[in-house]
Amino acid sequence: AAKDKGRNQYCLFSSTMHDSVRTRHDLLRELQLAIDDGQIVLHYQPIVDLHTGCVAKAEALVRWQHPDHGLIMPGDFIALAESSGLIVPLGEHVFMQAAHQVAAWRHQTGRELAVSVNVSPAQFQSEGLNSTALLSTLRELNLPGAAVTIEITERLLMESTEQTSRKLQEFRDAGIHIALDDFGTGYSSLSYLKRFDIDLLKIDKNFVDDLTGNSQNRALCEAIITMSHELGMKVVAEGIESQEQHDWLRAAGCDYGQGYFYSRAVEAGAFMRWLCARDDTQHSTGLPEHCGARRHG
Ligand code: C2E
Ligand code: MG
Ligand code: MG
Ligand code: MG
Repeated sequence: AAKDKGRNQYCLFSSTMHDSVRTRHDLLRELQLAIDDGQIVLHYQPIVDLHTGCVAKAEALVRWQHPDHGLIMPGDFIALAESSGLIVPLGEHVFMQAAHQVAAWRHQTGRELAVSVNVSPAQFQSEGLNSTALLSTLRELNLPGAAVTIEITERLLMESTEQTSRKLQEFRDAGIHIALDDFGTGYSSLSYLKRFDIDLLKIDKNFVDDLTGNSQNRALCEAIITMSHELGMKVVAEGIESQEQHDWLRAAGCDYGQGYFYSRAVEAGAFMRWLCARDDTQHSTGLPEHCGARRHG
C-alpha cells in the first residue's frame, strides 16, 4: 500500500521516484476531476451509545472511488488534497454529501440520527471554509445543528487564530457539536480544553488497543474519561475491536464506542441495513424506544 512508502503520498500510482513530479501533477488533476465527477464518496461507521446500546450517530469517512484503481482510502489522498488546497472543495463536497445523507436517513427512519464529519486544519483555516454556506445548507435541509458533529484535531487548536475561534463559535452557536479527534496523539495541551468549547473527546485507537493487557492504557483511558466528564465533555472511544474492550470501556463510564467490533465503515445503504438489523435484534428489549425515535403525526 502507498502508506508503506511513508509520507510520500505521490507514489500512489507510480513505482519510480523519477515519475513523482509528473505523478503529483496528474494526481492533482485527477482528484480535481474526481470531485466534479462524483468519484468522492462517503462510507459511514456507526458510533454506539455505550449507556443505552443505541446508535445515534455515524462518522462519515471519505473514499475515492477511482475508475481504474478502485477504492482509494483517505490516507492516500488527504495529505495531497491538503497541501494543494483541494481540501477546501473536497471538504465542502464531503460536508454537503453528509448533510444530505443524514437528512435522508432522518426522514426515512423518523429517528434523530446525526453525522460526524472530519475537517482538517488546512480546510478549517482556509478563507474558503464558508461557515455561512454550510449552515444555510443545514437550514435548507431542515436539519438542526445537532444533526452534525465536526471532528477537529489538536493541531487546529494549537495553531488557532482569532478566525479559528470565531468559526468554531459560529458552528457551536448553530448547535453543531465539536469533537476533538485522535485525542492524546497530538501536541496535547490540556489548557486547550479550557479555552475552547469542545463537546466530545475521541480517545485515539492507540489507547484502546490492548486495553485488557496493558494497565497503562487502562489508566490513561480512565483519566481521560474522568477529566472529560469533570469538564462537561462526553467521550468516544475509537478502534474498539473486541467484546472485552467494549465491556471495559462501558464499565469505565465511556459514553460512546466506535470500531470494527460494531461495524466497519460501509456504504450508506449498507449502514441503513445494518442499523435496521440491529434494531430488530434489540426490539425485544425495547431499546429502539430510547434510540431517538420521534412520534409521527
Ligand atoms: P479518523 O477520523 O480517526 O477515523 C477513524 C479511522 O479509523 C478510519 O479510517 C476508520 O475506518 C478506522 N477505524 C475505525 N474503527 C477501527 C477499528 O476498530 N480498527 C481499525 N484498525 N481501524 C478502525 P479511514 O477511513 O481510513 O480514515 C483515516 C483518516 O482519514 C481519518 O481518521 C481522518 O483523519 C481522515 N479522513 C477520513 N475522512 C475524511 C474527510 O472527509 N476529511 C478529512 N479532512 N479527513 C478525513
Ligand atoms: Mg474522525
Ligand atoms: Mg479519529
Ligand atoms: Mg484516528
